[in-house]
Amino acid sequence: MSERSEVAAPEPATAKKDWKHTDVGSVFVSNYPPYSFWSEDRVPEVIEMLNASYPASLETPLGLYLHIPFCRKRCKFCYFRVYTDKNSAEIQAYLSALGDEVEMYSELPRISERSLKFVYFGGGTPSYISVRHLKALVERLQRAMPWDEAEEVAFECEPGTLSQSKLEAVKEAGITRLSLGVENLNDDILRENGRAHLSKEVFAVVPWTRALEFEQVNVDLIAGMVGETWESWRSTVQKTVDLDPDSVTVYQMELPFNTVYSKRILTEGGGPVPVADWETKREWHHYAIEWFTQAGYEISSAYTVVKKGRPNKFVYRDALWRSSDMIGTGVASFSHMGGLHFQNVTSWDAYIGALGAGQLPLNRAFATTRQERLTREMILQLKLGKISTDYFQEKFGVDILEAYGPTYHRLQDDGMLTFDKNGVNLTRKGLLRVDQLLPEFYDPKYRNARYT
Ligand code: SF4
Repeated sequence: MSERSEVAAPEPATAKKDWKHTDVGSVFVSNYPPYSFWSEDRVPEVIEMLNASYPASLETPLGLYLHIPFCRKRCKFCYFRVYTDKNSAEIQAYLSALGDEVEMYSELPRISERSLKFVYFGGGTPSYISVRHLKALVERLQRAMPWDEAEEVAFECEPGTLSQSKLEAVKEAGITRLSLGVENLNDDILRENGRAHLSKEVFAVVPWTRALEFEQVNVDLIAGMVGETWESWRSTVQKTVDLDPDSVTVYQMELPFNTVYSKRILTEGGGPVPVADWETKREWHHYAIEWFTQAGYEISSAYTVVKKGRPNKFVYRDALWRSSDMIGTGVASFSHMGGLHFQNVTSWDAYIGALGAGQLPLNRAFATTRQERLTREMILQLKLGKISTDYFQEKFGVDILEAYGPTYHRLQDDGMLTFDKNGVNLTRKGLLRVDQLLPEFYDPKYRNARYT
């Protein structure tokens, strides 16, 4: 975990949320239209698109996402497709399939002549795999799709899986952006929520990342883990400031379906899961933003603050939110290319089996309309806290304030946003609940639908 990698386990039913209590159900918006509308019968369109040559005049940036689905243990709030029981031979088999998949993509007409703008190792826990496995994987990937010229190569880490020598191998692989899944710095909270690491491992790792001079180190936090109090949250924020990362990402705790906590809540007699209500989580998030701002950080999105004067780009996020092409490889991974969304098969056997048979492991797809592409980019870019009307006028020939006028004005009336000559600015009130607002821009047929 994860700067919200797009690899989630499926959600079984639509939840009606009251936006007061933290109920079971997905809130975070990572894509549009919702995944539940993607289907197997659109997969042939993906194959056709991948086999057609790429019109060079398009100049769409290309990225590669690699899903490494292994973790030391499953966090009780985790909804990602991860495995905690695979041995070294099984990991080797998976990484070999991943290499096969990347090689297959590299030979397709839509991709073969293009270079990568960004690479993202997500999970799961990319830092879980051994140095030997990492080196072999990187060598093979680099041969198929070199990333020497990429603007960013990001790598997610669980602090307890890192050693100095592993970080050296990560650095040698050309990683520019490390993201440390810290989540909290209170050991009781880390234990209660099933994290595999404790705070001392975070404090050990950060100096190594400095000594190795990674371009950018991000720390992930979650506001509202089970057991959180004002006192513990203040302490976590202060200790994070002291660690002095280049950027900090703060998410508000959710309870998507298929987490240990959600299953407990939904099981009769399973017992309560005391997650703070949304208002409290927003207060904690707001407190963190204020404190980081005082410590020299500035807001870069609804979730991320970046230290002034340090490298502050986040190519993966910006590419995703501007509809760049991205090949998502690995079990259950999501891709988008040429206006098509597609996802890989979601089981281990199906993934390894498809690649063993020399086929791309595709599972379901969705062909977007121009209107849906516009909505998608607009709602994702709203997460930046401001959007430019000119951008959408130039790219889609649409005045978004006219096309989505009633929704924008309703949100303005509710104090969620303001307008200026460039476009739309979210207020802090809007920024802190942005994922709850975005479905208001959805086409009615996608509202209140199952998300995954
Ligand atoms: S570290 Fe925890 S939250 Fe992150 S992917 Fe693994 S189990 Fe999920």
